[in-house]
Amino acid sequence: MPVRLTRQTMNQILLFDEDFTSHKDHVRLSGRRLNHLKEVTRIAEGDRLKAGHLNGLQGEAHVLRLKRDAVELEVNLTEPPPAPLPLTLVLALPRPKVLNRVIICATSMGVKQIVLLNAVRVEKSFWQSPRLSKENLFRQRVLGLEQAKDTILPEIRLEKRFKPFVEDNLAQLTQGTIPLVAHPYDAEPCPLEIKEPVTLAVGPEGGFIPYEIEKLKEVGFSSVSMGERILRVESAIAALIARLYP
Ligand code: SAH
Repeated sequence: MPVRLTRQTMNQILLFDEDFTSHKDHVRLSGRRLNHLKEVTRIAEGDRLKAGHLNGLQGEAHVLRLKRDAVELEVNLTEPPPAPLPLTLVLALPRPKVLNRVIICATSMGVKQIVLLNAVRVEKSFWQSPRLSKENLFRQRVLGLEQAKDTILPEIRLEKRFKPFVEDNLAQLTQGTIPLVAHPYDAEPCPLEIKEPVTLAVGPEGGFIPYEIEKLKEVGFSSVSMGERILRVESAIAALIARLYP
């Protein structure tokens, strides 16, 4: 028999308020999650799965009934989700093709505050992408939470104007945090295992321009490097976070 290559598996089913039926602790799922549970996880009645309630507790789900168009689960959610990462990510808006991966990556690593920021090397057209729709940004964060067995939805802010955001909002956002900009030129090595919260700025695929680095430095940022190899945005984010909070 040929080996069936499955898609990425959902490590935890994320439940929304509207999934809960009038019967306490019972949920009914259809659509994407039902298809996934049937085709990828291949559940059967009686199985037990990991489940979490969006912005709430997590625990176990017991498959009560599996029908063609819906699955009914009984849930017992008593555990808190994993601790959030004390890191705010200020990210120059990446290409639409890369955006989904980056949101999933940051969410699965535990980032709870994401600012998507304009920069000179962000193409204007990126801001028109349907991937910036509320629905898509929500969906990608849900995928990240399911991946990492987390329940707390990160906040995403869109900031289309670099200079006013940096001058007027960033000083407040960085209060009580260490502001670092990932920029492998004229930089200190990225600190290892930091105890304090961090605001981390990551550049566009073409990098920040010197003026932008100057502006960030004016509000207290210092540049940090991961070495001379230039990484792709999502690899850079994963590598930086793994180093700051191992
Ligand atoms: N062509 C650009 C590369 C940008 S890579 C340049 O040469 O500057 C996209 C972003 O990822 C960078 O702006 C930076 O924030 C981050 N990054 C990539 N590699 C890095 C490294 N080795 N150290 C620190 N940051 C890095």
